[in-house]
Amino acid sequence: MAVRVAEEWLATCGGCEVTLLDRGMPLLDLLPKLEFVHMPVIMDHKYYGQTGEREELEIPEADVGLISGSVRNIENRHVVEEMRKKCKILITVGSCANYGGIPGMNNLFTVAEIAKLIYEDTPSTDAAPMPTEEIPPLEERVYAVSEVVNVDLKLPGCPTPPELLVEAITCLLEGREFKLEERSVCDECPLKREKKVVTSIKRPLESVEFIPGQPLEEVRCFMEQGFLCQGPVTMSGCGGEEKIPRCIKAYMTCRGCFGPIREGANPMVDMIGALSSVGLNPREIVDRVLVFNRFVGAQNRLRPRMGGK
Ligand code: SF4
Ligand code: SF4
Ligand code: SF4
Repeated sequence: MAVRVAEEWLATCGGCEVTLLDRGMPLLDLLPKLEFVHMPVIMDHKYYGQTGEREELEIPEADVGLISGSVRNIENRHVVEEMRKKCKILITVGSCANYGGIPGMNNLFTVAEIAKLIYEDTPSTDAAPMPTEEIPPLEERVYAVSEVVNVDLKLPGCPTPPELLVEAITCLLEGREFKLEERSVCDECPLKREKKVVTSIKRPLESVEFIPGQPLEEVRCFMEQGFLCQGPVTMSGCGGEEKIPRCIKAYMTCRGCFGPIREGANPMVDMIGALSSVGLNPREIVDRVLVFNRFVGAQNRLRPRMGGK
């Protein structure tokens, strides 16, 4: 019998859903074993019945529930609670669902500040009150899904690499344990480390030093070149079977999208230590609180700044 799957997206860009389709053949192999009973991105399935006949929001029962996106408004919260009620196993997909992700950066501002910025202060907008009719009210901050309901498995990444999702579902189908390793991106990074001290942080728009075609093992660690790379404090696993972190392979620094190496770690505190160890002063980083928490702003890691901006 096929495994029933329900999928939901909350405050999200849709990238986690789109990237799943990138998986190609392994996903096609898996599809006959799955029955998607609810997935708004590809199915017209209404919360209140096809003609709005139901009183309460309802999602069909499923063996596995997948959720991308963070909890930004009251409707998101109701959807998450209903998914928890109806799904035997609940998996969050992507850094938005796991840690607030990109929407989590909203937590630097109060709802009143956001409303003022968007509906009053934007130069191209005629000032108006924030709409309230038929629009779900915002929560006072952005929440990770696990702050609202219990989650059985968190799949990291922005977006989650599709092979990770396929592997997790395959393990479930075969009754095998799926476990993420508590290793850092640095542990899988092939770049050359010489333990040289650098003195100042370069602007992210400058290019890292490498010769086109040069083997990655001969390219110097980007942090030792003076760039901010969050590999030391970020969970590994984005490199797929090759095990080469996906940004490093593209000659870009790691920005931390996989989140902390282990549950409860604080990437900002750990990153300050990593920068100091190569002689860099974290105070040189403009807006460092936001930079270090770019993908993990829920769970009270980002809070409104005194005085707004
Ligand atoms: S984790 Fe990234 S790709 Fe996935 S929904 Fe959030 S912003 Fe989009
Ligand atoms: S700091 Fe970045 S570039 Fe250096 S080893 Fe770690 S992941 Fe690689
Ligand atoms: S290298 Fe870092 S930012 Fe890039 S995909 Fe991997 S974890 Fe995410």
